Amino acid sequence: ATPMSIMVAVGRAAQMGVLIKNGEALQTASKVSCVVLDKTGTVTEGKPQVVAIHCVNAADENTVLQAVASLEQQSSHPLAQSLLQAAQQRQLSVTEVSQFEYRQGQGVVGRLDNGIWLIGNDKLLQAHDVVLDEAVISLRNQATALAQTPVLVAHNGVFSALICISDPIRKDAKAALSLLKQQGKRLVLLSGDNEQTANAVAQQIGIDHVIAGVLPDEKQAWVHKLQQAGEVVAMVGDGINDAPALAAADVGVALGTGTDVAIESADMTLLTPKLENLALGFALSKATLRNIK
Ligand code: ADP
Ligand code: MG
Repeated sequence: ATPMSIMVAVGRAAQMGVLIKNGEALQTASKVSCVVLDKTGTVTEGKPQVVAIHCVNAADENTVLQAVASLEQQSSHPLAQSLLQAAQQRQLSVTEVSQFEYRQGQGVVGRLDNGIWLIGNDKLLQAHDVVLDEAVISLRNQATALAQTPVLVAHNGVFSALICISDPIRKDAKAALSLLKQQGKRLVLLSGDNEQTANAVAQQIGIDHVIAGVLPDEKQAWVHKLQQAGEVVAMVGDGINDAPALAAADVGVALGTGTDVAIESADMTLLTPKLENLALGFALSKATLRNIK
């Protein structure tokens, strides 16, 4: 590959909204065999919204939401934003939290005047021996089948509410991924969310291979595992969580809407969150190297 033709290709890609870091990144991009996509914010719009609240055991919605908002204001997780928004819409004020703890990959724990609250996923409630009854499990399963993320709430060791959060799948995701499939790429969906929700999303966009329930540092380990299996891996992500996995991948791809950390660790950046530009970036890199050889 001549430096000149590589420069031209990098320039053309940039005009189309794909920033390629350098010539080396372009060359590696031409060899990608497997594209790993983060779910939240990459395949989905990253704008989660509360769509339902189911209270049990005499808990009432406003008390639950007020407690949830009080704890979640300490968190920077995308789910926290949507929960705070729901409380704001009802003009609920937040109260002071003590003993706040963030449990990575699980949720948050904290004490309010009225006791201890747990807000998070199944793992968090299991870790505190909170039991879910059949009716709740069934509602939870209905939500995950619709690709929603269930947030479970417990108060003083008793389950009190299921909050369903929906984060719409990007409208262009399915078409964009089918272009990647036409290029012969193997597709993998990687998510910190639960398996059922991740599976429902994967099914809607035509991805067969799902790795769910992973912690941020495990994302990186999964990239290495795919590389050891002989894949040349592109990892597409948006969040701070994804930076180590982007760095570990042969080609780290950041979405333009993502965090600065993600963009800094990226070999390729999609200036707009148009997933179709992924296929374009790979095609352009391949065509450039083919022409020069
Ligand atoms: P991801 O961002 O890919 O979902 P995380 O490791 O950040 O991965 O979170 C994994 C899961 O832990 C979330 O899907 C959610 O169920 C739960 N969780 C994490 N943080 C919070 C929080 N602040 N409030 C409620 N649940 C949370
Ligand atoms: Mg994410």
